[in-house]
Amino acid sequence: MDLFEHQARQLFEEHGISVPHAEVADTAEGARAAAERLGGRVVVKAQVKTGGRGRAGGVKMATDPAAAQITARQILGMDIKGHTVRTVMVAQPVDIEAEFYVSYVLDRAAGRFLAIASAEGGMDIEEVAASRPEAVARLAIDPKEGVTRAKAADIAAAAGLPADTADTLVELWRVLIREDALLVEVNPLVRTAQGEILALDGKVTLDDNARFRQERWGAERETHDDTLEAAAAAKGLNYVKLDGEVGIIGNGAGLVMSTLDVVAGCGARPANFLDIGGGASAEVMADGLSVVLSDPSVRSVFVNVFGGITACDAVADGIVRALGAVQLTKPLVVRLDGNNAARGRAVLDARAHPLVQQATTMDDAARRAAELAGALHAPRPAHATDAP
Ligand code: ADP
Ligand code: MG
Repeated sequence: MDLFEHQARQLFEEHGISVPHAEVADTAEGARAAAERLGGRVVVKAQVKTGGRGRAGGVKMATDPAAAQITARQILGMDIKGHTVRTVMVAQPVDIEAEFYVSYVLDRAAGRFLAIASAEGGMDIEEVAASRPEAVARLAIDPKEGVTRAKAADIAAAAGLPADTADTLVELWRVLIREDALLVEVNPLVRTAQGEILALDGKVTLDDNARFRQERWGAERETHDDTLEAAAAAKGLNYVKLDGEVGIIGNGAGLVMSTLDVVAGCGARPANFLDIGGGASAEVMADGLSVVLSDPSVRSVFVNVFGGITACDAVADGIVRALGAVQLTKPLVVRLDGNNAARGRAVLDARAHPLVQQATTMDDAARRAAELAGALHAPRPAHATDAP
Protein backbone atom coordinates (compact mmCIF):
# COMPACT_ATOMS: atom_id res chain seq x y z
CA MET A 1 0.00 0.00 0.00
CA ASP A 2 1.21 3.47 -0.89
CA LEU A 3 1.04 6.10 1.83
CA PHE A 4 0.05 9.72 1.38
CA GLU A 5 2.79 12.33 1.67
CA HIS A 6 1.52 13.47 5.07
CA GLN A 7 1.69 9.90 6.37
CA ALA A 8 5.22 9.48 5.02
CA ARG A 9 6.09 12.80 6.67
CA GLN A 10 4.73 11.48 9.96
CA LEU A 11 6.87 8.32 9.71
CA PHE A 12 9.94 10.39 8.86
CA GLU A 13 9.33 12.59 11.90
CA GLU A 14 8.92 9.54 14.16
CA HIS A 15 12.29 8.27 12.97
CA GLY A 16 14.10 11.53 13.67
CA ILE A 17 14.23 12.94 10.14
CA SER A 18 13.68 16.71 9.93
CA VAL A 19 10.51 17.68 8.06
CA PRO A 20 8.67 21.01 7.73
CA HIS A 21 5.94 21.72 10.29
CA ALA A 22 2.64 20.81 8.67
CA GLU A 23 -1.01 20.04 9.22
CA VAL A 24 -3.61 18.22 7.17
CA ALA A 25 -6.94 19.81 6.21
CA ASP A 26 -9.93 18.61 4.23
CA THR A 27 -11.68 21.97 3.90
CA ALA A 28 -10.53 25.40 2.73
CA GLU A 29 -11.44 26.87 6.14
CA GLY A 30 -9.37 24.17 7.82
CA ALA A 31 -6.43 25.11 5.60
CA ARG A 32 -6.81 28.74 6.64
CA ALA A 33 -6.82 27.83 10.33
CA ALA A 34 -3.76 25.62 9.82
CA ALA A 35 -1.96 28.49 8.04
CA GLU A 36 -2.73 30.76 11.01
CA ARG A 37 -1.15 28.26 13.41
CA LEU A 38 1.85 27.74 11.12
CA GLY A 39 2.73 31.43 10.92
CA GLY A 40 0.78 32.68 7.90
CA ARG A 41 2.94 31.97 4.87
CA VAL A 42 2.53 28.35 3.81
CA VAL A 43 2.75 25.83 1.00
CA VAL A 44 -0.58 24.10 0.22
CA LYS A 45 -0.04 20.58 -1.13
CA ALA A 46 -2.56 18.20 -2.70
CA GLN A 47 -2.55 14.80 -0.97
CA VAL A 48 -2.86 12.21 -3.73
CA LYS A 49 -0.97 8.99 -4.25
CA THR A 50 0.82 10.07 -7.39
CA GLY A 51 3.87 12.18 -8.17
CA GLY A 52 4.20 15.33 -10.26
CA ARG A 53 1.71 17.22 -8.11
CA GLY A 54 3.74 20.42 -8.40
CA ARG A 55 3.61 20.35 -12.18
CA ALA A 56 -0.13 19.63 -12.12
CA GLY A 57 -0.79 22.72 -10.00
CA GLY A 58 -1.27 20.77 -6.78
CA VAL A 59 1.57 22.43 -4.81
CA LYS A 60 1.18 26.17 -4.30
CA MET A 61 2.64 28.87 -2.11
CA ALA A 62 0.23 31.11 -0.16
CA THR A 63 1.41 34.36 1.40
CA ASP A 64 -1.13 34.49 4.26
CA PRO A 65 -4.04 32.50 5.78
CA ALA A 66 -6.66 34.11 3.51
CA ALA A 67 -4.61 33.15 0.44
CA ALA A 68 -4.16 29.64 1.87
CA GLN A 69 -7.94 29.32 2.05
CA ILE A 70 -8.37 30.37 -1.58
CA THR A 71 -5.54 28.10 -2.73
CA ALA A 72 -6.91 25.14 -0.78
CA ARG A 73 -10.32 25.71 -2.36
CA GLN A 74 -8.69 25.51 -5.80
CA ILE A 75 -6.71 22.38 -4.98
CA LEU A 76 -9.42 20.41 -3.11
CA GLY A 77 -11.49 18.46 -5.63
CA MET A 78 -8.80 18.81 -8.31
CA ASP A 79 -8.09 15.74 -10.43
CA ILE A 80 -4.42 14.81 -10.64
CA LYS A 81 -3.73 11.90 -13.00
CA GLY A 82 -7.05 10.30 -12.13
CA HIS A 83 -6.78 10.91 -8.36
CA THR A 84 -9.27 13.27 -6.73
CA VAL A 85 -7.79 15.56 -4.10
CA ARG A 86 -9.69 15.08 -0.85
CA THR A 87 -7.17 16.55 1.59
CA VAL A 88 -4.36 19.05 1.49
CA MET A 89 -1.26 19.32 3.60
CA VAL A 90 -0.48 22.84 4.74
CA ALA A 91 3.27 23.11 5.34
CA GLN A 92 5.72 25.74 6.45
CA PRO A 93 7.74 27.06 3.53
CA VAL A 94 11.40 26.21 3.49
CA ASP A 95 14.17 28.36 2.14
CA ILE A 96 15.67 25.85 -0.34
CA GLU A 97 19.35 26.06 -1.21
CA ALA A 98 19.68 22.72 -2.99
CA GLU A 99 17.35 19.82 -3.87
CA PHE A 100 18.45 16.17 -3.92
CA TYR A 101 16.86 12.84 -4.73
CA VAL A 102 17.12 9.75 -2.51
CA SER A 103 15.31 6.43 -2.53
CA TYR A 104 15.62 2.91 -1.25
CA VAL A 105 13.81 0.29 -3.23
CA LEU A 106 13.61 -3.47 -3.22
CA ASP A 107 15.41 -4.88 -6.25
CA ARG A 108 13.62 -8.22 -6.61
CA ALA A 109 15.76 -9.43 -9.50
CA ALA A 110 18.99 -8.95 -7.56
CA GLY A 111 17.52 -10.08 -4.23
CA ARG A 112 18.83 -6.92 -2.63
CA PHE A 113 17.83 -3.39 -1.89
CA LEU A 114 18.98 -0.57 -4.07
CA ALA A 115 19.87 2.97 -3.08
CA ILE A 116 19.21 5.51 -5.82
CA ALA A 117 20.46 9.03 -5.23
CA SER A 118 21.13 12.17 -7.21
CA ALA A 119 22.25 15.71 -6.57
CA GLU A 120 19.64 16.73 -9.15
CA GLY A 121 16.49 16.41 -7.08
CA GLY A 122 13.16 18.16 -7.24
CA MET A 123 12.40 17.08 -10.77
CA ASP A 124 11.20 13.84 -12.26
CA ILE A 125 13.98 11.35 -11.52
CA GLU A 126 13.00 9.23 -14.56
CA GLU A 127 13.72 12.24 -16.74
CA VAL A 128 17.09 12.83 -15.10
CA ALA A 129 17.95 9.13 -15.45
CA ALA A 130 17.00 9.20 -19.14
CA SER A 131 18.79 12.40 -20.13
CA ARG A 132 21.78 12.32 -17.77
CA PRO A 133 22.19 8.77 -16.43
CA GLU A 134 25.59 9.68 -14.97
CA ALA A 135 23.79 12.07 -12.56
CA VAL A 136 21.97 9.18 -10.87
CA ALA A 137 23.94 6.89 -8.56
CA ARG A 138 22.74 3.34 -7.88
CA LEU A 139 24.29 1.30 -5.09
CA ALA A 140 23.29 -2.19 -4.01
CA ILE A 141 22.55 -2.62 -0.31
CA ASP A 142 23.19 -5.92 1.37
CA PRO A 143 19.94 -6.56 3.29
CA LYS A 144 21.86 -8.14 6.19
CA GLU A 145 24.07 -5.10 6.65
CA GLY A 146 21.68 -2.36 5.68
CA VAL A 147 22.70 1.28 5.44
CA THR A 148 25.39 1.87 8.03
CA ARG A 149 26.99 5.26 8.55
CA ALA A 150 29.83 4.19 6.23
CA LYS A 151 27.41 2.99 3.55
CA ALA A 152 25.47 6.27 3.81
CA ALA A 153 28.71 8.17 3.26
CA ASP A 154 29.37 6.03 0.16
CA ILE A 155 25.91 6.77 -1.22
CA ALA A 156 26.31 10.50 -0.60
CA ALA A 157 29.75 10.53 -2.23
CA ALA A 158 28.62 8.51 -5.26
CA ALA A 159 25.67 10.83 -5.89
CA GLY A 160 27.47 14.06 -5.11
CA LEU A 161 25.29 14.82 -2.08
CA PRO A 162 26.80 16.86 0.76
CA ALA A 163 28.41 14.68 3.45
CA ASP A 164 26.00 15.99 6.08
CA THR A 165 23.09 14.14 4.41
CA ALA A 166 24.55 10.84 5.68
CA ASP A 167 22.63 10.81 9.00
CA THR A 168 19.36 11.32 7.16
CA LEU A 169 20.27 8.48 4.76
CA VAL A 170 20.72 6.14 7.74
CA GLU A 171 17.42 7.25 9.29
CA LEU A 172 15.54 6.76 6.01
CA TRP A 173 16.85 3.21 5.88
CA ARG A 174 15.45 2.67 9.38
CA VAL A 175 12.05 3.81 8.12
CA LEU A 176 12.23 1.16 5.37
CA ILE A 177 13.17 -1.64 7.76
CA ARG A 178 11.11 -0.78 10.82
CA GLU A 179 7.95 0.08 8.89
CA ASP A 180 8.11 -2.93 6.52
CA ALA A 181 8.38 -0.71 3.46
CA LEU A 182 9.31 -1.75 -0.08
CA LEU A 183 10.03 1.81 -1.14
CA VAL A 184 11.09 4.97 0.63
CA GLU A 185 11.61 7.92 -1.65
CA VAL A 186 12.40 11.53 -0.84
CA ASN A 187 12.26 14.01 -3.69
CA PRO A 188 13.34 16.57 -2.83
CA LEU A 189 15.59 16.09 0.15
CA VAL A 190 16.79 19.66 0.62
CA ARG A 191 19.53 21.65 2.24
CA THR A 192 18.08 24.91 3.50
CA ALA A 193 19.76 28.31 3.50
CA GLN A 194 20.28 27.71 7.23
CA GLY A 195 22.21 24.50 6.47
CA GLU A 196 19.54 22.08 7.69
CA ILE A 197 18.77 18.82 5.82
CA LEU A 198 15.00 18.36 5.43
CA ALA A 199 12.70 15.86 3.69
CA LEU A 200 10.24 18.05 1.73
CA ASP A 201 8.31 15.28 -0.01
CA GLY A 202 7.98 11.60 0.78
CA LYS A 203 6.68 8.48 -0.85
CA VAL A 204 6.49 5.26 1.15
CA THR A 205 5.12 1.94 -0.11
CA LEU A 206 4.39 -0.58 2.63
CA ASP A 207 4.75 -4.31 2.09
CA ASP A 208 1.23 -5.76 2.18
CA ASN A 209 2.66 -9.10 3.28
CA ALA A 210 3.36 -7.42 6.62
CA ARG A 211 -0.20 -6.13 6.87
CA PHE A 212 -0.73 -7.82 10.22
CA ARG A 213 1.91 -5.46 11.66
CA GLN A 214 0.37 -2.36 10.09
CA GLU A 215 -2.84 -1.97 12.03
CA ARG A 216 -2.45 1.79 12.31
CA TRP A 217 -3.12 2.12 8.56
CA GLY A 218 -6.21 -0.10 8.64
CA ALA A 219 -8.90 2.59 8.57
CA GLU A 220 -7.09 4.45 5.80
CA ARG A 221 -7.08 1.36 3.58
CA GLU A 222 -10.85 1.21 3.72
CA THR A 223 -11.74 4.86 3.38
CA HIS A 224 -9.32 6.27 0.85
CA ASP A 225 -8.58 3.54 -1.63
CA ASP A 226 -11.10 3.85 -4.45
CA THR A 227 -9.04 2.13 -7.12
CA LEU A 228 -10.21 -0.88 -9.10
CA GLU A 229 -7.53 -2.94 -7.35
CA ALA A 230 -9.05 -2.07 -3.97
CA ALA A 231 -12.54 -2.94 -5.22
CA ALA A 232 -11.22 -6.27 -6.48
CA ALA A 233 -9.34 -6.95 -3.24
CA ALA A 234 -12.53 -6.28 -1.27
CA LYS A 235 -14.18 -9.06 -3.29
CA GLY A 236 -11.24 -11.35 -2.65
CA LEU A 237 -10.11 -11.30 -6.30
CA ASN A 238 -6.54 -11.62 -7.46
CA TYR A 239 -6.53 -8.59 -9.79
CA VAL A 240 -3.72 -6.39 -11.07
CA LYS A 241 -4.45 -3.35 -13.23
CA LEU A 242 -2.30 -3.01 -16.35
CA ASP A 243 -2.47 -0.26 -18.93
CA GLY A 244 -3.85 -1.90 -22.05
CA GLU A 245 -7.29 -2.33 -23.60
CA VAL A 246 -8.08 -6.07 -23.51
CA GLY A 247 -9.58 -7.22 -20.21
CA ILE A 248 -8.36 -10.68 -19.21
CA ILE A 249 -10.01 -13.21 -16.93
CA GLY A 250 -8.71 -16.72 -16.48
CA ASN A 251 -8.40 -19.49 -13.92
CA GLY A 252 -4.97 -20.13 -12.50
CA ALA A 253 -2.06 -17.69 -12.46
CA GLY A 254 -0.10 -19.65 -15.08
CA LEU A 255 -2.95 -19.68 -17.58
CA VAL A 256 -3.63 -15.97 -17.02
CA MET A 257 0.06 -15.13 -17.51
CA SER A 258 0.16 -17.02 -20.79
CA THR A 259 -3.12 -15.39 -21.84
CA LEU A 260 -1.45 -12.00 -21.36
CA ASP A 261 1.40 -13.15 -23.59
CA VAL A 262 -0.87 -14.47 -26.32
CA VAL A 263 -2.90 -11.25 -26.35
CA ALA A 264 0.33 -9.22 -26.50
CA GLY A 265 1.46 -11.50 -29.32
CA CYS A 266 -1.59 -10.33 -31.30
CA GLY A 267 -0.42 -6.73 -30.92
CA ALA A 268 -2.93 -5.78 -28.20
CA ARG A 269 -2.17 -4.77 -24.66
CA PRO A 270 -3.77 -6.53 -21.68
CA ALA A 271 -5.80 -4.20 -19.45
CA ASN A 272 -5.39 -6.35 -16.36
CA PHE A 273 -4.44 -9.65 -14.81
CA LEU A 274 -7.36 -11.41 -13.13
CA ASP A 275 -7.11 -14.93 -11.82
CA ILE A 276 -10.43 -16.30 -10.59
CA GLY A 277 -8.56 -19.26 -9.12
CA GLY A 278 -9.25 -22.97 -9.04
CA GLY A 279 -12.75 -24.10 -8.15
CA ALA A 280 -14.15 -20.66 -8.97
CA SER A 281 -17.86 -20.29 -8.40
CA ALA A 282 -20.41 -18.47 -10.55
CA GLU A 283 -20.31 -15.66 -8.01
CA VAL A 284 -16.53 -15.20 -8.35
CA MET A 285 -16.89 -15.09 -12.13
CA ALA A 286 -19.63 -12.48 -11.87
CA ASP A 287 -17.55 -10.35 -9.45
CA GLY A 288 -14.52 -10.60 -11.71
CA LEU A 289 -16.42 -9.60 -14.80
CA SER A 290 -17.97 -6.59 -13.12
CA VAL A 291 -14.54 -5.36 -11.94
CA VAL A 292 -12.96 -5.77 -15.39
CA LEU A 293 -15.92 -4.12 -17.15
CA SER A 294 -15.80 -1.12 -14.84
CA ASP A 295 -12.30 -0.26 -16.10
CA PRO A 296 -12.95 2.53 -18.65
CA SER A 297 -9.89 1.61 -20.73
CA VAL A 298 -11.19 -1.92 -21.42
CA ARG A 299 -12.50 -2.28 -24.98
CA SER A 300 -12.99 -6.05 -25.12
CA VAL A 301 -12.76 -8.88 -22.60
CA PHE A 302 -11.22 -12.29 -23.06
CA VAL A 303 -12.38 -14.99 -20.65
CA ASN A 304 -10.02 -17.93 -20.87
CA VAL A 305 -10.92 -20.93 -18.73
CA PHE A 306 -9.45 -24.36 -18.71
CA GLY A 307 -11.72 -26.41 -16.50
CA GLY A 308 -9.91 -28.64 -14.03
CA ILE A 309 -11.32 -28.26 -10.54
CA THR A 310 -13.26 -25.34 -11.96
CA ALA A 311 -16.19 -26.63 -14.00
CA CYS A 312 -16.81 -24.69 -17.21
CA ASP A 313 -20.57 -24.74 -16.71
CA ALA A 314 -20.12 -22.93 -13.36
CA VAL A 315 -18.03 -20.31 -15.17
CA ALA A 316 -20.69 -20.00 -17.87
CA ASP A 317 -23.35 -19.63 -15.17
CA GLY A 318 -21.26 -16.85 -13.64
CA ILE A 319 -21.01 -15.07 -16.97
CA VAL A 320 -24.78 -15.33 -17.46
CA ARG A 321 -25.36 -14.08 -13.94
CA ALA A 322 -22.97 -11.16 -14.51
CA LEU A 323 -24.85 -10.30 -17.71
CA GLY A 324 -27.95 -9.92 -15.57
CA ALA A 325 -26.21 -7.72 -13.00
CA VAL A 326 -24.04 -5.44 -15.17
CA GLN A 327 -24.94 -4.03 -18.52
CA LEU A 328 -22.49 -5.43 -21.03
CA THR A 329 -21.29 -2.61 -23.27
CA LYS A 330 -18.09 -4.26 -24.46
CA PRO A 331 -17.65 -7.46 -26.46
CA LEU A 332 -16.74 -10.62 -24.62
CA VAL A 333 -14.80 -13.50 -26.13
CA VAL A 334 -15.06 -16.73 -24.16
CA ARG A 335 -12.95 -19.79 -24.55
CA LEU A 336 -14.03 -22.73 -22.41
CA ASP A 337 -12.12 -25.99 -22.45
CA GLY A 338 -11.71 -28.97 -20.13
CA ASN A 339 -14.08 -30.04 -17.36
CA ASN A 340 -17.73 -29.67 -18.48
CA ALA A 341 -16.75 -27.47 -21.44
CA ALA A 342 -19.59 -28.70 -23.66
CA ARG A 343 -22.14 -27.92 -20.95
CA GLY A 344 -20.61 -24.51 -20.40
CA ARG A 345 -20.73 -23.69 -24.09
CA ALA A 346 -24.34 -24.78 -24.25
CA VAL A 347 -25.21 -22.43 -21.35
CA LEU A 348 -23.70 -19.48 -23.24
CA ASP A 349 -25.29 -20.52 -26.53
CA ALA A 350 -28.67 -20.63 -24.80
CA ARG A 351 -28.16 -17.13 -23.39
CA ALA A 352 -27.30 -15.91 -26.93
CA HIS A 353 -26.11 -12.46 -25.88
CA PRO A 354 -25.21 -10.41 -28.99
CA LEU A 355 -21.94 -9.16 -27.44
CA VAL A 356 -20.74 -12.60 -26.33
CA GLN A 357 -18.91 -14.86 -28.75
CA GLN A 358 -17.19 -18.18 -28.17
CA ALA A 359 -13.90 -19.43 -29.51
CA THR A 360 -12.49 -22.91 -29.29
CA THR A 361 -8.79 -22.15 -29.07
CA MET A 362 -6.81 -19.68 -27.01
CA ASP A 363 -5.05 -18.23 -30.08
CA ASP A 364 -8.29 -17.68 -31.96
CA ALA A 365 -9.93 -16.10 -28.91
CA ALA A 366 -6.95 -13.77 -28.34
CA ARG A 367 -6.97 -12.68 -31.98
CA ARG A 368 -10.68 -11.93 -31.84
CA ALA A 369 -10.41 -10.03 -28.55
CA ALA A 370 -7.51 -7.97 -29.96
CA GLU A 371 -9.49 -7.27 -33.11
CA LEU A 372 -12.56 -6.21 -31.14
CA ALA A 373 -10.36 -3.86 -29.09
CA GLY A 374 -9.21 -2.33 -32.37
CA ALA A 375 -5.66 -3.38 -31.68
CA LEU A 376 -4.83 -6.18 -34.06
CA HIS A 377 -1.35 -5.37 -35.33
CA ALA A 378 1.68 -7.24 -36.49
CA PRO A 379 2.59 -9.83 -33.86
CA ARG A 380 4.98 -8.62 -31.20
CA PRO A 381 7.57 -10.85 -29.62
CA ALA A 382 6.23 -13.00 -26.81
CA HIS A 383 6.61 -11.72 -23.24
CA ALA A 384 5.97 -8.17 -24.39
CA THR A 385 3.69 -7.62 -21.41
CA ASP A 386 4.66 -6.24 -18.06
CA ALA A 387 2.70 -8.72 -16.01
CA PRO A 388 3.42 -9.41 -12.34
P1 ADP B 1 5.63 16.62 -6.34
O1 ADP B 1 6.88 15.82 -6.32
O2 ADP B 1 4.43 15.75 -6.28
O3 ADP B 1 5.58 17.61 -7.44
P2 ADP B 1 6.73 18.05 -4.03
O4 ADP B 1 6.28 17.90 -2.64
O5 ADP B 1 8.04 17.44 -4.37
O6 ADP B 1 5.58 17.49 -4.98
O7 ADP B 1 6.74 19.60 -4.37
C1 ADP B 1 7.20 20.10 -5.60
C2 ADP B 1 8.22 21.19 -5.33
O8 ADP B 1 7.64 22.19 -4.51
C3 ADP B 1 9.45 20.72 -4.57
O9 ADP B 1 10.43 20.22 -5.44
C4 ADP B 1 9.90 21.98 -3.88
O10 ADP B 1 10.69 22.74 -4.76
C5 ADP B 1 8.60 22.73 -3.62
N1 ADP B 1 8.15 22.53 -2.22
C6 ADP B 1 7.47 21.51 -1.70
N2 ADP B 1 7.26 21.65 -0.37
C7 ADP B 1 7.85 22.82 -0.04
C8 ADP B 1 8.02 23.54 1.20
N3 ADP B 1 7.52 23.10 2.37
N4 ADP B 1 8.71 24.71 1.15
C9 ADP B 1 9.20 25.17 -0.01
N5 ADP B 1 9.10 24.55 -1.18
C10 ADP B 1 8.43 23.39 -1.21
MG1 MG C 1 8.38 15.48 -5.09
